[in-house]
Parts: sequence; structure tokens; C-alpha cells
Amino acid sequence: MRVNIDEIKEAGIDRRWDLPREALDAIVLGDRSGWRASGGAHVEARIEKLDRRVFVKARVTAELAGECSRCLAPIASRLPFAFALTLVPADEYDEQESVAAEDKAHHPVAGSFDPQHAEEEAYQGKVVDLDPFLREQVLLSLPEYPVCREGCKGLCSVCGKNLNDGECGCDRKVPDPRWAGLAKVKLT
Ligand SMILES: [Zn+2]
Ligand SMILES: [Zn+2]
Repeated sequence: MRVNIDEIKEAGIDRRWDLPREALDAIVLGDRSGWRASGGAHVEARIEKLDRRVFVKARVTAELAGECSRCLAPIASRLPFAFALTLVPADEYDEQESVAAEDKAHHPVAGSFDPQHAEEEAYQGKVVDLDPFLREQVLLSLPEYPVCREGCKGLCSVCGKNLNDGECGCDRKVPDPRWAGLAKVKLT
């Protein structure tokens, strides 16, 4: 979805569009958690402008198919998520970056993180393509360890049986080292 900056009036604009299944699939293929597109994605965005900064608030619904990270059962998911972005003109963005870098040099903080800057992205020219940002946000929103249901028992680590179908009787107890000492204590 391309938006011409000049078309964004004071009241803001609303844009809705659909990503076809193939496009969504191409995005999620880049993820390691095994998601595939089972349908397309629907996007609803509110776009506002203040000076040269563009604010995007979007709601996305993506049709996905995956695999339970515990029992490997197939999962069909209609994943809804929302994101907000501030698009800053590239020249302003670079300036800000160098100021931030200077700040950091003066006050070095280990692992310092500026949440306000985190959701800012640079744009160039008059026409902003929202697709790269959408792609990034979809990838960020994919559950890394999806489960087929809350409390899925997973597979037996010994025999591989799906424990949701019942116990297999294997001894999966791993002795807890914290109790090892206690076991030696004789009760008198
Ligand atoms: Zn499961
Ligand atoms: Zn077992």
C-alpha cells in the first residue's frame, strides 16, 4: 500500500486493503516457527500527519496455519494484531540518529533502549510504501511457540506418544538436584 504524503489531510485518512495468500505466505516463510498462510491478511489503517511526520495505526488479521510447538498438531489461526508506527522524513531521522549517538557517547548506558525511538522508521520522498513495515510487523507478531490449546501436554520425551491422548506409562521424572540432599536425610 502506497500513500502519498500530500493526500493525508488534517483529519487523517483511513485505508483498508487485503494481502493475498501468496503475499502473506512470502512474508511468513521468512520466519523460523513454521507458519504458513492459510488465507490472506486484512489490514485497516488510520494515517495521520503532523508537519512531515506520518503516524500509522493499523489493525491486521492474518489467516495462518502452523504446528503446535509441543505436540506438533496442526493449528489454524486467525491472528489479529495491531501496531503503531511513526514515519519520520529521512533527513530528520538521520539528524536524530546522530544526536542519539552523541548522547550515548556522553552517557554510555549498557543496553540502553529508547522506546520512543523504537517504533520510528524513516521514509523518503512523497510516497510512502507501507508494505515493508507491514512485513516487519507481521513477523514480529507471529507467536514463536504456538500451542494447539492452553495446557497442551505435548509429546512423551521417552516414547514420543501424544500425551493429550493419554498417559503412556514412561518414567519421565528427572531427579531435581535440590531434593537429592534431602533424600539422604533419615527420618527418625
Ligand atoms: Zn499441542
Ligand atoms: Zn512415553
